Formats: sequence, structure tokens, C-alpha cells
Amino acid sequence: MAVTGTKRHEGDSWDLASSVGATATAVAARRAMASKGPNPLLDDPFAEPLVNAVGVDAFIRMMNGQIEHVEDDPAFTPKRLAEGMAVRTRFFDNFFLDAAAAGVRQAVILAAGLDTRAYRLAWPTDTVVYEIDQPDVIEFKTRTLADLGATPTADRRAVAIDLRDDWPAALQDNGFSSQRPTAWIAEGLLGYLPPDAQDRLFDNITTFSFSGSRLGTGYVPDIRGRIAKRGKEISERWRRLGLNLNWADLVYDGERNDAVGYLTERGWQTTVRSTQELYADNGFDFPEGATAVAFGDVRYVSAELA
Ligand code: SAM
Repeated sequence: MAVTGTKRHEGDSWDLASSVGATATAVAARRAMASKGPNPLLDDPFAEPLVNAVGVDAFIRMMNGQIEHVEDDPAFTPKRLAEGMAVRTRFFDNFFLDAAAAGVRQAVILAAGLDTRAYRLAWPTDTVVYEIDQPDVIEFKTRTLADLGATPTADRRAVAIDLRDDWPAALQDNGFSSQRPTAWIAEGLLGYLPPDAQDRLFDNITTFSFSGSRLGTGYVPDIRGRIAKRGKEISERWRRLGLNLNWADLVYDGERNDAVGYLTERGWQTTVRSTQELYADNGFDFPEGATAVAFGDVRYVSAELA
């Protein structure tokens, strides 16, 4: 199956093989790569069958390490792709496990894509995990994992709604309580929201967070400036992989508020880690190369509301 996508617009929608949905399949393919081999870096047994079920040839080839024709970039080898994803996945896994250890029993995975944490983390009993994403994305994952015989390790509640719409109401309709602390994550999301929707997302999270709530997220500072300089290289690499999708078209233009500053002003105590620091913590070398430095330069944020 080929990937399709056009420039972003108000109310646009997608499945896991189109537009922003394809980015969820891309990162799941990398989790599958990190979960393979004699010394796997991750244990996500559902990533590979999910990517196979989506059926995009280019992602299946990448997942199976068939990327020799794109490997001129030192950051784009199976080893590097797996390590980069392991760093990111472990950050958010640990974020949830730390919150659980601190007694938080309500979790929300915003823009869940093919995230399988509700099926693979050791959640304490009585934990409710809400997953929000667009309807086609959520329904595909729920159905495919059920067909695979996977069972959630928490009380998983899927909420099919666009994050530019009234998602707090949909969350509450599914039993979410703003009177209990929540652990929220927004992984791989912010650039795909218009700048004002990013602010509204943080405003809503703050409004619906009880004291002791936590938020984990990550973002590439000045993503538009970096895309302007190096976006063509990424699109060219995707084209050589066989993907007819211009990544620069998926990320919203316009000045956006700095996530850390915005959250701090709203009472969140934030801790920021650089990708380089997390690579070092995991014992990996941060890859050389301008593209890796430009787009791998994610700031990982964990925040807590007093
Ligand atoms: N968080 C997942 C992960 O890291 O594996 C998926 C990340 S993927 C790069 C981006 C995800 O954001 C996609 O699943 C997409 O459907 C979701 N997304 C982006 N904008 C959204 C919106 N406006 N409403 C709902 N979901 C959205």
C-alpha cells in the first residue's frame, strides 16, 4: 500500500497510511526495529504486527532493515533508528512508571497512534488508561490488537476524537475525573497541532489536572526554522524509501509558544532533558550529522502540578 497526504487544513483527517497518521506507523516501525534481535532495546511485541497490518510497504521494508539505499545518512541505519526510538520510548515508559509509583492511577495518552503502553506496561491494578486519537487510528489499533489476542494491562478506554475539538468533554464522557491526579503524555504531537491548538491543549490539560498531576512531552525547538533548512533532505530520504509524503507539509507553520515557558507560567514545575543527555544515560553515542542534530534535537519535558 502507498502512503498519501496533502498539506494540512482545518478539520483534516487520516488513517495510519495517510498524512499525520503515517507518522504513527513510522515510529511504530522503529519500535519494532528496537524490539528485534538477540539483544532488543525495547519489548514492544505488538509493534511489528501492527505495522504489518497497516500494510505500507516502505515502513515494512524499513522495519525489516531493508534501507541500504538510504543509508548515506549516518543517523539512518537500523541501529541508529532503533537506538533513537529506544531513548524516546524508555523516557515515556519511565515517566508513566514513576507516576504510578507515586500513586497516580489515571493516565491519558494524547495522540496515542500505535502506542501499546496500555497493553504492555505493568500498571498497578485500578489504573485507567485513556487513549485519544483520530477515529480511524484508534479503531484500527483496537481492532487489530483484539484480533491478535492482546489484552490490555489496565482499564483501557479509547476516545476517538480530534485534539482540535472538544476532547475534554469526550474524555469525561468516558469516565475521566478531574478530581484525581492524572499522568498525561503528548509524545510526537506538538508540531502537528496549529500553534493556538498547542496552547489550548496545554490550557485544557492544566484545567483538568488535579494537584499532583504530571505531564510528559517532547518537542523540537524552532521546528519550522529547521524544516526550512533541512526539510528537503528528510522528504528526499522518505522518497527514496518509497514514501510519497512531504513531511514539511504535515507540520504547522507559524510562531508557537515555547512549551516549557508556557507550562511554567501555568504553574507546572518542569524538568527538561536534551536528547544528548538521554543518549548518554542509555549508553548510546549521539549520531553525527546535520540532519540528526537538527531533528533529533528533541527536548524531553516532564512536569508536575503542585
Ligand atoms: N504518540 C504516538 C507515538 O509516539 O507512537 C504517535 C505519534 S505520531 C508521530 C503522531 C500522532 O498524532 C498520530 O497518531 C496522529 O493521529 C496524532 N494526531 C496528530 N494531530 C492530531 C489531532 N489533531 N487529533 C488527534 N490526533 C492527532
